[in-house]
Amino acid sequence: MSRNVASLALVDRVRAGEPAAVARLISRAESGGAEAREALARIYRLAGNAHVIGLTGVPGSGKSTLVGKLTEKLRAQGKKVGIVAIDPSSPYSGGAILGDRIRMTEMAVDPGVYIRSMATHGATGGLARAALDAVDILDVAGFDTVIIETVGVGQDEVEIARASHTTVVMSAPGLGDEVQAIKAGILEIADIHVVSKCDRSDANRTLVDLKQMLMLGLAGAAPADWAVPVIGTSAISGEGLDELVTALGRHRHVAFETASGTARRLAIANFRLRKTAEDLLLARFGAAASEAGAALAPKLLRREADPYSLANELIGAFSGEVGTGSPKKMRQTIK
Ligand code: GDP
Repeated sequence: MSRNVASLALVDRVRAGEPAAVARLISRAESGGAEAREALARIYRLAGNAHVIGLTGVPGSGKSTLVGKLTEKLRAQGKKVGIVAIDPSSPYSGGAILGDRIRMTEMAVDPGVYIRSMATHGATGGLARAALDAVDILDVAGFDTVIIETVGVGQDEVEIARASHTTVVMSAPGLGDEVQAIKAGILEIADIHVVSKCDRSDANRTLVDLKQMLMLGLAGAAPADWAVPVIGTSAISGEGLDELVTALGRHRHVAFETASGTARRLAIANFRLRKTAEDLLLARFGAAASEAGAALAPKLLRREADPYSLANELIGAFSGEVGTGSPKKMRQTIK
């Protein structure tokens, strides 16, 4: 079977909802090679039905626990739920990741739930591009809701959470600052604020602080057709979970049916385009630059030129070749 036919057969298997095909195509998207591009291009055109929810907050705020509870609720409504967890393999994380935790529960054997972890650490870049490709793959595989869980501490992760139809920002009592979203710089990206652990007595303070900030306009300007709700939840008592499901449904409507929702989806498309272009550009430049760089480095070593001038030369030569991306041609240009 030729490569094209094989990759298109894989798309058909994704459309049929085959978990093995979903897993394989997400892995190909992650590795970023050219061989997956045709399949991913096809996937993109088939996607667009799922409600994409970005969930972010500092580590320990209760994101993974909430994703579990939310998934139970959505499953009870008959919805299929895909989860893309951006694993922060960083010093911020205690290492207990969503994927590991949920895999141990009954959700692991439910065909209506698909969980995929994607690592930030050691990724060769292109995380946002790959994560959004994964969302589309799950969408095409028939998942009605796709949740992207990220930690609101890195720019990449915050941007990924933001590139969703509905962004949920979590805060929790007892993690130091009353409203950690301020510290993490994610306060203003929320369409819905959640304060978790409302079974604790100190949660009220976090709720009150957050509501005050919203009233003062410090938590970002929401479009006229959406008042950002602050919802207290408890994974223990179940408080607030139905309210959250309702708010998500209402915001889905805003995202798909209103002018501000269209503007938001256009901004997401723009982000997607930029991230994909960046990824392709870096891949091409990386290949071309290592050869051309080798030709220029001796000059730098001898201090006959400075790194800025040579870097400009390298980029200039690359820009001339961007249409072909040929390192050989580029080297000739530099000579
Ligand atoms: P994440 O790092 O944001 O994914 O947070 P986790 O979901 O791992 O939760 C961090 C800790 O808070 C865990 O020990 C949870 O058991 C606990 N936790 C999560 N939700 C609640 C809640 O609603 N109430 C209480 N009391 N603890 C919670």
